[in-house]
Amino acid sequence: MSTSTSSPLLKGHGLPSYEQITPELVRQDIPLLLKELEQQFTDLEQALRSRLDSDSFLGWEEVMQPMQRIGERLRWSWGVISHLNGVCNTPELRDAHAAQQPDVVRLGNRLGQSKVLHRALCQLRDQPSEPLNSTRQRILESELLSMQQRGVGLDGEHQTAFNQASERLAALSTSFGNHVLDATRQWTLKLTDPKQVKGLPQRALESLAAAAREAGDAEASAEKGPWLVGLDMPRYIPVLTHADDRSLRETVYRAHVSRASQGNLDNAPLIEEILGLRRDQAQRLGYGHWAELSLASKMAEDVSAVEALLEELRAAAYPAAEKELEELKACAQRHGTAEADSLAPWDVTYWSEKLRRERFDLDQEALRPWFPLPQVLDGLFGLCSRLFDVEITPADGEAPVWHNDVRFFHVRRGGEPIAAFYLDPFSRSASKRGGAWMDECLGRHRNSDGSLVLPVAYLICNQTPPVGEAPSLMSFEEVETLFHEFGHGLQHMLTTVDEPEAAGISNVEWDAVELPSQFMENWCLDQNTLMGMASHWQNGEPLPQAEVEKLRSSRTFNAGLATLRQVHFALTDLRLHSQWTPQLGLTPDQFRRDIASTTTVMEPIPEDRFLCAFGHIFAGGYSAGYYSYKWAEVLSADAYAAFEEVGLDQEDQVRATGARFRDTVLSLGGSRAPTEVFKAFRGRVASSEALIRHSGLQAA
Ligand SMILES: [Zn+2]
Repeated sequence: MSTSTSSPLLKGHGLPSYEQITPELVRQDIPLLLKELEQQFTDLEQALRSRLDSDSFLGWEEVMQPMQRIGERLRWSWGVISHLNGVCNTPELRDAHAAQQPDVVRLGNRLGQSKVLHRALCQLRDQPSEPLNSTRQRILESELLSMQQRGVGLDGEHQTAFNQASERLAALSTSFGNHVLDATRQWTLKLTDPKQVKGLPQRALESLAAAAREAGDAEASAEKGPWLVGLDMPRYIPVLTHADDRSLRETVYRAHVSRASQGNLDNAPLIEEILGLRRDQAQRLGYGHWAELSLASKMAEDVSAVEALLEELRAAAYPAAEKELEELKACAQRHGTAEADSLAPWDVTYWSEKLRRERFDLDQEALRPWFPLPQVLDGLFGLCSRLFDVEITPADGEAPVWHNDVRFFHVRRGGEPIAAFYLDPFSRSASKRGGAWMDECLGRHRNSDGSLVLPVAYLICNQTPPVGEAPSLMSFEEVETLFHEFGHGLQHMLTTVDEPEAAGISNVEWDAVELPSQFMENWCLDQNTLMGMASHWQNGEPLPQAEVEKLRSSRTFNAGLATLRQVHFALTDLRLHSQWTPQLGLTPDQFRRDIASTTTVMEPIPEDRFLCAFGHIFAGGYSAGYYSYKWAEVLSADAYAAFEEVGLDQEDQVRATGARFRDTVLSLGGSRAPTEVFKAFRGRVASSEALIRHSGLQAA
């Protein structure tokens, strides 16, 4: 029996009492919890061992249910800490979290590599005491796959070598990331001549001057300088976008694309070692190459399916990108500059911005008064009611919160509660992680007494807080972000699956998980939805139709170049992990340049060593998975197209299609294969036609 159920951190069920969870409690209770779960797992292994020896039939409740209980205890407690670490960060909490993390990871590894558990799961699959339904079969298959990919099936020296290589890969990816960080940090350029910063917006000048002050120029100011340029995104992007001084753009661009490619920060040798080790690891596990291993747990069937999709997008984007480049040249020409004849990579962003302004004259900041948060929420909830027949009502004060800004809502269908969620909308730079995300507070599952636990989601945004009398006035981008995260939240909350391992977003393939979120984003530009929420917060004026049109057309601006860029990254990643070997006689960089010949309209310059800074695939989790961005976009665009096909103004049809989306994509979660779920909604497999059309890339 648990020693510690009175601790607010170890309660393990219900909504957490956030304010009671302190760094001291983390230090004191997490080791207790880990010890207890460790012991429970040892006991379970013991029990399974004797059951396996007797070679009898195994039941789900003998293996999966105890594992689920262990997993849920850990998820609940560690989940609260990770959540607070993201939204109420303090140095003390961060330290307490970091101190426990290695032990949490160690427990996860022990579970994931247990040979006894693996044998029991195999036996459960082959000799279940009663037939497993398809959801349970799928849960079991993915559990077995994940254990197999952790090397549970290897023995003796093979396993030792596998584990050593895994550790080496982890160290290499940390070094890779550190090299990029250091190379980014080390390069700076001090500007003292105001002519050089001409064109830069005030906000950028301020951040360059602040950087100069931090580096010792106590007197630096936005107006008089000096200004310290750097390669981090907040300083690099404005220079490339706005600096009229072409040679400044060139210098900064050359420095940026050659990051981590020289001296002791050179990532090139790491890249070769990482690719070699990954190939070895994959082959040890019986795969041909790393891409095959990566795709084994994804929706995409195999490498050729991904190649085929990327080729469809490439073929559509390439001519568009060529045309867009010509338009940029024409724009430069109109401005009477010599650059027009020899447009270089450091000119593209700059002239794109000029052309964008000329064409759309769209000032995103000026639209904020039309998007006050309360109205946007009404619009979003109204849409959910139309499409999914759910009623969302505020329930502030009914749940413990971690900050005064946090709100709580109930979700009901036909009067019955089905879920709830927290919304933490505003940025708090001192204590809240940047970006936006959805996370699970509670997942849908049944207690041992059969009672149902309803899902609760965390929806976290970082939008502009209210100032004075005014409510939070959102940029259109912030509106899209809120809809995006709410899409993830809907999949978590509207699930009808009772098995926690497959409810909501659990067990949903990685390249399919952005389907509901990107799907919801599409509605921001739907006429009914947009006009339903966009009216001036003071005088109630609707957003002028001209602005709506600008928002729509700016969405496809330079879509050819943008799509091609993503295709280039995705294809490079995929082929490095499926085709490249040292025996080819090409370095990874040369290999990438071959791919660039058909996936860029402007050849990479010799210093461009993009791979040396491609952290997504060498320092993050995207290896042989970068294509997922586009893959999920195909699904979400095609799903939205189902509504376009019935007519967005045909209310009955829209509602019926929405109900079908709810009953398939949102409800089935990870209980069925994503291709099957998509077919159940769309009546056919996904097509890239809608994405190509929405991006304005269809052949003229
Ligand atoms: Zn997302």
